[in-house]
Amino acid sequence: MINIPKGTKDVLPSESDRWHYIEDKLRRTASLYNAREIRTPVFEHTELFVRSIGDGTDVVSKEMYTFEDKGGRSITLKPEGTAPVARSFVENSLDAMSLPLKMYYITPCFRYERPQAGRLREFHQFGVEIYGATSPYLDLDCISFAYDALVGLGMKNIVLHLNSIGCPTCRKRYIEALKAYFEPMLGEMCGTCKERFERNPLRLLDCKSPVCKSVASGAPKIADYLCDDCRAHHDKLTSLLTSRDIPFVRDDNIVRGLDYYTGTVFEFVTEELGAQGTVCGGGRYDNLIAEVGGKPTGCVGFAIGLERILMLMEKQGIDFGEERPCVYVMSQSPAQADECIKTVARLRAAGVSADTEMTGRSLKAQFKYADKIKAEYGVVIGESEMESKQIKIKNLSDGTEEECALGDLAARMKEKKNG
Ligand code: ATP
Ligand code: MG
Repeated sequence: MINIPKGTKDVLPSESDRWHYIEDKLRRTASLYNAREIRTPVFEHTELFVRSIGDGTDVVSKEMYTFEDKGGRSITLKPEGTAPVARSFVENSLDAMSLPLKMYYITPCFRYERPQAGRLREFHQFGVEIYGATSPYLDLDCISFAYDALVGLGMKNIVLHLNSIGCPTCRKRYIEALKAYFEPMLGEMCGTCKERFERNPLRLLDCKSPVCKSVASGAPKIADYLCDDCRAHHDKLTSLLTSRDIPFVRDDNIVRGLDYYTGTVFEFVTEELGAQGTVCGGGRYDNLIAEVGGKPTGCVGFAIGLERILMLMEKQGIDFGEERPCVYVMSQSPAQADECIKTVARLRAAGVSADTEMTGRSLKAQFKYADKIKAEYGVVIGESEMESKQIKIKNLSDGTEEECALGDLAARMKEKKNG
């Protein structure tokens, strides 16, 4: 037997309706927000991610699936969805469309990480990109989009953590202060933090190790280093969030892992998934488009990790609904099999999901099967039904029956389905 690669998962037929449920709800929220879907390839030139995410980040330095293709190009499976959308925006001159432009995607992402609950090597994101302005109203629209998406899925007990990491100018002064603070204490901190000190000092603030956390708790706060513009932007955003009734906590330690962030950064976090409690991460990245070769463009966005959402929804007992066939058509004996096939064809043509016996099993076995696939209704076609052209529709959950002409079955079921 050949096993599935470590850190990946099959979505089995018994689980796929949960994914459909989540994806349908998210697409519905996207349409309420006037966002259009964008699909980009699963792989890109490695250079795109190195330039945009930054080579000092964990994602680029350790987590990418990079390989040379047969033409000798360096190719990377997308570790996230934002950089490919930025690439496409520039390449297809999407700025020529009226801005702001709102886009969303549902995509697999690949990161070579240590697999654990809520951390996979192939995972899925629902992501949103709002391009075209630096106004805090865009930040509000983006955060409320994420909030409505999560609430729309029925999720409870998730908290919005909000911060601003400033523009490159104020962040520079802050990073100097941060390094001066951490330097004398580096000896006590974990190996990852020691490494990050040079590469990506902001990340020292969000280490999960208890010792590093306690060292970080005394670090200088970015809030004290913001320039007037960044401060005004942040204050306007917090007042907009308050008037939109979206609760949040200010969290100086939210810095996000990728280099392209500027100003607003946020995460939606739950206590219910242990260390993998961030279900959504996002923020503003006003320099990204220029970084990948376009004109400077204000951008905000977020990504929701779908596996974590699924885990949380299961934990919170949220009802996903269930996909099940409406009618199962059974043949008393193999002699009626052809009529059964014609009957399901008529049902399907009328938009009613239906299935029928194809293996010549006994009627008893067919009823068992109908029960297994959770069909709502059962119809048996035997010799007498063929003759009289009358059948009985059996409600398989309560056992009640109703008569119907065989020729009217599709119309009757369609009526029932539409209630
Ligand atoms: P984390 O801090 O948990 O590593 P991240 O900051 O690396 O998250 P982002 O790049 O912001 O994550 O991705 C957005 C969302 O995608 C995360 O909030 C999370 O829900 C999900 N996610 C990220 N990495 C993984 C993974 N390896 N497996 C499953 N979901 C993931
Ligand atoms: Mg990560």
